[in-house]
Amino acid sequence: MSVLVVGSTALDSIITPKRQNPRLLGGSASHAGVAASFFAPVRLVGVVGDDFPRRYLALYRRHGIDLAGLQIAPGKTFHWEGQYEVNMNNRRTLKTELGVFESFFPALPSAYRQTPYVLLANIAPLLQHHVLDQMQRPKFVIADTMDLWLNTALAEVLRLLRRVDAVVLNDSEARQLTREDNVITAASRIHRLGPKYVLVKKGEHGSLLSGPGGMFLCPAYPLDRVVDPTGAGDSFVGGLIGYLAGARGRLEANLRRAMVYGSVVAAFCCEGFGLTRTAKVTRRDIEARAMRLKDLVRF
Ligand code: AMP
Repeated sequence: MSVLVVGSTALDSIITPKRQNPRLLGGSASHAGVAASFFAPVRLVGVVGDDFPRRYLALYRRHGIDLAGLQIAPGKTFHWEGQYEVNMNNRRTLKTELGVFESFFPALPSAYRQTPYVLLANIAPLLQHHVLDQMQRPKFVIADTMDLWLNTALAEVLRLLRRVDAVVLNDSEARQLTREDNVITAASRIHRLGPKYVLVKKGEHGSLLSGPGGMFLCPAYPLDRVVDPTGAGDSFVGGLIGYLAGARGRLEANLRRAMVYGSVVAAFCCEGFGLTRTAKVTRRDIEARAMRLKDLVRF
C-alpha cells in the first residue's frame, strides 16, 4: 500500500566540526520519503523553488517517489542551516529561510486523497491540517512535530493530536508538551491529548512506543562513527510508516517491527551528509542490519 508524505523539501547547509556542506538535499519529507521508499510506494507533497537542483528531483525519482504532489514555484527553496557541536548531539539552527514555503498550500492531486498511510512529517501544523482535510478515510495517520511549533503554534499542534492515530516526538519535545520530566508519564499524558500510539525518540538511546498493547523499547542501531545526524528522526518515522504500509497482520505487532526498521534506516542516514549515504542503501543492507539488531537485544 502507498504512503503519502507531506513535509519540508529543503536545501540544507550543514556544519560539523569536520566539514561544511552547503545546499544538500534535505527537509523532513525528503528524508522520510526516501526512507519509506525502501518498503512501499511513496507520494510526496511539498514545494520547491525554481533553484532546486534537477539532480535532487532525479534522486527522488530513482527511489520511485511519485512527484505529482511536489509543486515547483517561482522563488527560493526552503533553506535550513545548522551547526553541530563536537559531540554531534547538540545542534544549533543558524538560519531558516522559508522561501516558497511561505505561500505554500498543499493541494493534493485527486489520486492522492485515498492513500491509506499518511505521514505528516515535520512542517507547520496548519499545513499538516490542510493535508488531513483533503484525505478520505486514511487507514493510519502519524504526525511528527518539533519544538518550534510547540513554541509558536501550540493550539494547532493540540488540535492535530486529536486527529491522528500516532504521534512521534523526541524526549525533550515530549517533556515540553506535557511539562512532565518523566518520559513514561509524559507518554501517558500525550495519549490523553488524542493519539492511540505515542512514539518517543531518544536519539542514540533508541525509542519507545506506548500503545494499547503496552510499551515497547527499540534500541538505536549502534554506530561507531556519526558523520551527520540531520534527518535521522525523519528517516526513523519514514522507514517506520513505509514498513507498516508494506506489512500484513496486526497493526501493533507490525508497529514494533517497523520501529526496528526505522532505527536501521536512521542509522544509515547518520553515516553520511544529508541523504548521501541513505541514497546508496539497498533493502538487503537494511535486512542485514535489522537481523544484527535482533541479535544485539536477544537475552
Ligand atoms: P531532524 O534532524 O530529524 O530534526 O530533521 C532535520 C531536517 O528538518 C532538515 O533536513 C531540515 O531541512 C528540516 N527542518 C529544519 N527546520 C524545519 C522547520 N522549521 N520546518 C520543517 N522542516 C525543518
